[in-house]
Amino acid sequence: MAKEQKRKSWAEPFRIKMVELLKMTSYEDRQKAIEEAGYNTFLLRADDVYIDLLTDSGTSAMSDRQWAGMMMGDEAYAGSRNFYHLRDTIEQYYSYKYTVPTHQGRGAEHILSQIMINPGDYVPGNMYFTTTRLHQEMAGGTFVDVIIDQAHDPNDLYPFKGNVDFEKLDKLVSRVGADKIPYICIATCVNMAGGQPISLANLRQLRQWCDEHKIPIVHDMTRVAENAYFIQQREEGCSDKSVAQIVHEICSLTDIATMSAKKDPMVNIGGFLAMNDADLYQKACNMVVIYEGLHTYGGMAGRDMEALAIGITESVHDDHIRARVGQVEYLGDKLAEAGVPIVKPIGGHAVFLDAKRFLPHIPQEQFPAQALTAAVYVQSGVRSMERGAVSAGRDKNTGENYMPKLELVRLTLPRRVYTQAHMDVTAEGVIDVLEKAEQVKGLRITYEPEVLRFFQARFEPIE
Ligand SMILES: *Cc1c(COP(=O)(O)O)cnc(C)c1O
Repeated sequence: MAKEQKRKSWAEPFRIKMVELLKMTSYEDRQKAIEEAGYNTFLLRADDVYIDLLTDSGTSAMSDRQWAGMMMGDEAYAGSRNFYHLRDTIEQYYSYKYTVPTHQGRGAEHILSQIMINPGDYVPGNMYFTTTRLHQEMAGGTFVDVIIDQAHDPNDLYPFKGNVDFEKLDKLVSRVGADKIPYICIATCVNMAGGQPISLANLRQLRQWCDEHKIPIVHDMTRVAENAYFIQQREEGCSDKSVAQIVHEICSLTDIATMSAKKDPMVNIGGFLAMNDADLYQKACNMVVIYEGLHTYGGMAGRDMEALAIGITESVHDDHIRARVGQVEYLGDKLAEAGVPIVKPIGGHAVFLDAKRFLPHIPQEQFPAQALTAAVYVQSGVRSMERGAVSAGRDKNTGENYMPKLELVRLTLPRRVYTQAHMDVTAEGVIDVLEKAEQVKGLRITYEPEVLRFFQARFEPIE
């Protein structure tokens, strides 16, 4: 399939049938809005945003087929036909036999963490994700980062910065013992590393390592199609495979999956926990009825399960994913050409600005990435997200702020939503901020929630 693509451009394999009008705001409007929002882009009203690149989570545009699927919703409390369609689609495309629907990804993480982690356990992962790590910690586990060192360097051009470092894994096993490791969590297209993929070769090696140590692999498969596309483009011997084939192969190398269906499969809400082990499935069913809903709907309506099943099939089309990643690269290249410091290689779902280099006058304790999200918003009406010290939070034992190597601003592209001209406007806005970067001030926290503080914390500029 990959070979047939003779077109040089990644142009969209769809056309627009309905549009959503946006409110235009002035510089003064936005200055006022960000002050009211405590310099936290999560606290802005969406109506005050022109181009919303906060997240690709639940913000993608559904297709005509997905909308048609919504009309086919079977809202039976138990045994909805849409559940069986979803379950069969997951097995066909992702290989997992048993599916437990959940309201979104963290619902699946919650159930999994509670049934698999015992207090005192260690959970290695290829970099942390905010909600994933918190659920591990709430179950009494300790997250251990086993991603390769290159992933923590925004300038390293290594093509598979999502890879696992086996030396780090071996060290952990000799320190705590394999029986203290309930599973290893592998994210495809690692969000916090900048949307960076893991290679098939690394994953195959991990399968072997885990078989030797009898440790299951949990796949955080939120962006598996984007990861598969990078494998097709970059990994030796993979250019003739379709994205769908590679997606299936990745999933087959793992045992259990958590999915935030709000990302790759382009629905506005939904997720699931999937697995091949019948005993584990039983345990998950017992938990899901407590926290989400009956095991044949979890947190989802029948119509939402139908839209998800259809979205899964659309998400693995070669032309779709090429255009999706192509648009991210278009924005990234434009910024890089203008001298904006970004994480390279450009990721699958977002362009990440390197705030340490963008605002070298602001020390990390004053949250330069947070300050940059606010500055970009005020300049251009573009909303982005902090992925640095604010997101990293505090050590659960010492209470100290984590100071991650990566202090980033994420410009995240919803799928099938914005045009190339929107990307031009976004780039202009960021470049304008770069030209007066020394005017951007550091921030101090005025309100801090106990967990996942980045969502609701408030800040003020340090004068
Ligand atoms: C979004 C996300 C999650 C959590 O999913 P939600 O649907 O937001 O609850 C977990 N892992 C990764 C990598 C994600 O990007």
